[in-house]
Amino acid sequence: MIPELLTDLDSRQQASRSWFPPHLKTRPVLCESVAQPESAEEVAALVAWAAANGKSLRAVGGGSGTSELAFVDIAIDTSRLTKLSWSEEDMTVTVGAGVTISAIEEQLTGHAYTLGQSLGSATLATVGGCIATDAHGLFTGRYGSFRESVLSQSTLGGIIVEATLKMHPQPEARAWTVFDFGDFDDACDALRLIHRSDARPSLARITSPQRMMLAFEGDEIVQTGHFQLAYAVCQQLGGTPGDPDDGERWLESRQRSDRWSANAQSETFADFMRLRAPWSSLAETCQRLRSVLEGRVTSLDIEIAHPTPHGATVELAFTLHGDEPRYRELRELIFPSRKV
Ligand SMILES: Cc1cc2nc3c(=O)[nH]c(=O)nc-3n(C[C@H](O)[C@H](O)[C@H](O)COP(=O)(O)OP(=O)(O)OC[C@H]3O[C@@H](n4cnc5c(N)ncnc54)[C@H](O)[C@@H]3O)c2cc1C
Repeated sequence: MIPELLTDLDSRQQASRSWFPPHLKTRPVLCESVAQPESAEEVAALVAWAAANGKSLRAVGGGSGTSELAFVDIAIDTSRLTKLSWSEEDMTVTVGAGVTISAIEEQLTGHAYTLGQSLGSATLATVGGCIATDAHGLFTGRYGSFRESVLSQSTLGGIIVEATLKMHPQPEARAWTVFDFGDFDDACDALRLIHRSDARPSLARITSPQRMMLAFEGDEIVQTGHFQLAYAVCQQLGGTPGDPDDGERWLESRQRSDRWSANAQSETFADFMRLRAPWSSLAETCQRLRSVLEGRVTSLDIEIAHPTPHGATVELAFTLHGDEPRYRELRELIFPSRKV
């Protein structure tokens, strides 16, 4: 049997929310109705019914996604898919798609385990949303991206219903090292060479200007080796060691930062985007973004994050004063091949 289809305005608005900056100012396009299935069987019935009746569907988790949402007939609100069980022996946690990341952490923390997915939106974001968007926490060096933490998942007609995720012991210790570099290219080279070596920082990031933050977590003996390797690479590339306490201070300020609140002001758009680039074109990508954004935006932060031996992510945070067409024009310049 299919679950009831809710058509009241409040349910439709709730199920159509998103943090796409223009949607935080003007009402997004509303879905026609909302279903709140409680089981995989109800989701399957809904998917079959929608296909037979030519209705489009989309899953809705915590609504913290930052992409523009197009119209759909039916929004599948996953908030009642709340199963949660875990196995210490298998080091896995099996969860319904609608469970939030902070709800999982609350369960695991008391037993000294963690998912390791430190998202800024943990209280809102759900398992289904995090898999669909491949969310990235800060400590991807140790825990990978969200999709990398999925061992299996059950999906019905594009709707994620349940997933089994990796869980990890909470790390025994965390040590930071901070290095300042004379120029951006040297900082990028150091980051690349660290990831070509056997050093595996849990968090590695170039913040502006040319400052590298490295965090090492886990068993102290193993992490000391990783730490020393990375330290030597930074010194070889001319880096100057900074105060390691700056690492923890940076993490705290990052976790407190509320870059979206500027969207409450009219004609101000605050946004955050990620672009993945191989090492060979990382510097060029950053240069292109700077030339597109500087002069058009009122604030700009460019950071390099989530490095692997093959490439890294350019993270952009900017604020733009202007109207919606100006904001959309800027997005098109950032993602030239993408229609926004
Ligand atoms: C303040 C703030 C901080 C943030 N911090 C981070 C961060 O640190 N790292 C990061 O990566 N992102 C971050 N985000 C972005 C956002 O939280 C993530 O994209 C998150 O994964 C979205 O999860 P959600 O449950 O809110 O998904 P929703 O917003 O509900 O949906 C997002 C997309 O996923 C799809 N979806 C949702 N559930 C399912 C399902 N069950 N099956 C199939 N598709 C589904 C939706 O259809 C939609 O396309 C942040 C956003 C905000 C507002």
